[in-house]
Amino acid sequence: MKITPNLRASVLEMVETYATRFSVPAPRILLSTREVLNMPKHVTAGRRTTAYKYYGVAYMQYNVVFLNIRKISDMKVLEKTIVHEIAHLRFPYLAHGKRFNNIVKKGLRGSTFRPYVRRSIKYQYIR
Ligand SMILES: [Zn+2]
Repeated sequence: MKITPNLRASVLEMVETYATRFSVPAPRILLSTREVLNMPKHVTAGRRTTAYKYYGVAYMQYNVVFLNIRKISDMKVLEKTIVHEIAHLRFPYLAHGKRFNNIVKKGLRGSTFRPYVRRSIKYQYIR
């Protein structure tokens, strides 16, 4: 697809909607490989020059998501990619697989998810 101001607005709206449903702060969105390359190197380390290969990339540590608009063919694939990347932000401990795919499916059907709570409190201080 082509990046237009209208498309950008739709993307940001969808991201807001799904970030709310997944109880994560809305990530910063990059829509082109140019925008990826313009980010500080440490943010996109590991998937910087290879980002173009993917439909989307979640740079989880920095709450940044790249959506490869040029590669994405239509709104349906776009929405699926957004949900996929936001699912990574909410479920950082899940790798790709059946469980992850089920979460994406549920997300696309409008499910909501409670905020992520770290299981281990070993290194957290209680006041
Ligand atoms: Zn993924």
